[in-house]
Amino acid sequence: MDKIELKIKNTIEKNKLCNKKEKVLVALSGGKDSTLTAYLLKKLGYNIEGFHIDLEIGTYSKRCRESVEQLCKDLDIKLHVYDMKKEMGAGMCYLRTSIQSKQAKGNLKNCAICGVLKKWIFNKCARNLKADKIATGHNLDDEAQTFLMNFFKGNPKLSANSGAITQNIQDEKFIPRIKPLFYVAENDIRAYTKKLNLPVIYDKCPCALDSYRIEVRKFLNTLSTKEKENIVKNMEITMKKLQKSKENIIQYCQYCGEPSRNNICKKCKLMKF
Ligand code: AMP
Ligand code: ZN
Repeated sequence: MDKIELKIKNTIEKNKLCNKKEKVLVALSGGKDSTLTAYLLKKLGYNIEGFHIDLEIGTYSKRCRESVEQLCKDLDIKLHVYDMKKEMGAGMCYLRTSIQSKQAKGNLKNCAICGVLKKWIFNKCARNLKADKIATGHNLDDEAQTFLMNFFKGNPKLSANSGAITQNIQDEKFIPRIKPLFYVAENDIRAYTKKLNLPVIYDKCPCALDSYRIEVRKFLNTLSTKEKENIVKNMEITMKKLQKSKENIIQYCQYCGEPSRNNICKKCKLMKF
């Protein structure tokens, strides 16, 4: 068994991410991380289906969708596609710009808005498709990056619920999210998907323009994989203490009915319903 394969197998088993009876919906963006997640879960014998959101960001989205369709055809994975224009009335660029233009300070970053909308879609659709878990392609670099950003901004508590599986939320309407590549470094993923010749779009999303994230990413790239692992391991140790003290009352959003920590969910707050 390859080194990455073994690492993923251990991550899944040690953290009880999923079992072979459960239906796991893999959120496929067309990029290397989620593509490898689906490839390995399938190879290890898990019961997976694919889920792709067509964000309608011009040719970039078109290429991503084609890549996901190719992967699912090659690996015989059932694919569900959510078309933002059809379902929400507009593509991500339009929705995001209109949200940003309504903000008093206008400081919400593109990726933050896109992230909130995607998570809302994942949960709602996974529940409708009767999935037990949602798997995303988040990797070691993503996790170290998010943790350091929260830390540098003086808000490490924002990482309190980070982990290979969503922590601290138990609600029948909430579908837990798992990250099988949580401990795998980005460089190893890139090398492996190239070796396997999987259909992958290696370009970055044209809307990912958060300069702070890019700076933190540049800094992280000066570190070794061992050091990145240490950041994430330390995050897990310290955050466990925060989790215990954090209040976790789940309510249902008064507009859309989705589970949320507040009476209005993040997506409806953004879209000002
Ligand atoms: P990102 O927030 O773009 O770094 O993506 C993180 C993870 O979310 C990816 O590894 C995918 O699992 C998932 N994801 C991102 N974009 C999409 C998409 N358009 N459709 C489905 N899943 C996605
Ligand atoms: Zn809502």
